Amino acid sequence: MDIPRIFNITESAHRIHNPFTPEKLATLGVALRLESETRVLDLGSGSGEMLCTWARDYGIIGVGIDMSRLFTEQAKLRAEELGVTDRVEFIHGDAAGYVADEKVGVAACVGATWIGGGVAGTIELLAKSLRSGGIILIGEPYWLQLPPTEKVAKGCFAGSISDFLVLPELLASFGNLEYDVVEMVLADQEGWDRYEAAKWLTMRRWLEANPDDDFAEDVRAKLTSEPKRYATYTREYLGWGVFALMAR
Ligand code: SAH
Repeated sequence: MDIPRIFNITESAHRIHNPFTPEKLATLGVALRLESETRVLDLGSGSGEMLCTWARDYGIIGVGIDMSRLFTEQAKLRAEELGVTDRVEFIHGDAAGYVADEKVGVAACVGATWIGGGVAGTIELLAKSLRSGGIILIGEPYWLQLPPTEKVAKGCFAGSISDFLVLPELLASFGNLEYDVVEMVLADQEGWDRYEAAKWLTMRRWLEANPDDDFAEDVRAKLTSEPKRYATYTREYLGWGVFALMAR
C-alpha cells in the first residue's frame, strides 16, 4: 500500500507537505494553547513534523497515520532526532475510517481531506475520535480569488472551480456543519514558495541520480513545466489554511 510514486519523489525532501513553514506550524501550536499530555490524532500525518515538534515544544502525545511508506519512515526518524519517540507513534496505513482507541483532545487532518471524502466527511470521521469539548483541525485550500475560468482552476490542479470555496464561504461552511471556527492560521506566498519550489530542486537531483528510471521522462516534463504553472496559477489563486473547529 502506498501513495502515487510521483509524490514520494517530488516531496521526498519535504518535512512539511503543505504550504506551512515551521514558523506557521509553531504559531498554530501556540494558537491552540496546547496543554502537555493532550492527545493528538493526525490523519495523513506525512513526515510527522506537526506531531514531532508539538511533542517537543508542547508535550503533546500523538498518533499519526499515513499511507506513504517513505513519509512514515521519515516521521519515525524525525521523532528519534527530536527525542520524542516515547510521545509519538506513526502508523503506515490507510487513514480512511480510522478511529482512535482512546479519545483525543485534538483530531487533525491537515491537507488530506479526501481521506474522509471531503471536508464534511473528514470532520465527521475525526469527530468519532474526539473527546467532548475537543478541537478538530482541518487544513484545506481555498480560493484567494475566484478563478475566472475552469482552465485556471485546472491550472491550480483543482478538478473544477467548485472543488474549493473562497475564504468567507469556507468559514461559513464550517458553521453550516454546526461547528464554531475557534482559530485559524493561514499560509502565505512565502510558505507556498517553500512547498512548491522545494520540489524543483528535489526533482532535479532525482533526475541526476535516476536518469534511466521509467519515471524520468515524467519527472523531467514536470520540472520543465512546474515553475511557470505554479507562478501563473497556484501562487495567484490558491490560499491554504488550518482551521480549528469546536462543535456547537
Ligand atoms: N499533514 C501532512 C501531510 C499532508 S500531504 C503535512 O502537513 O505535512 C497529504 C498526506 O496524505 C501525504 O503524506 C499522503 O501520503 C497522505 N495520504 C494520502 N492518502 C492517504 C490515506 N488514504 N490515508 C492516509 N494517508 C494518506
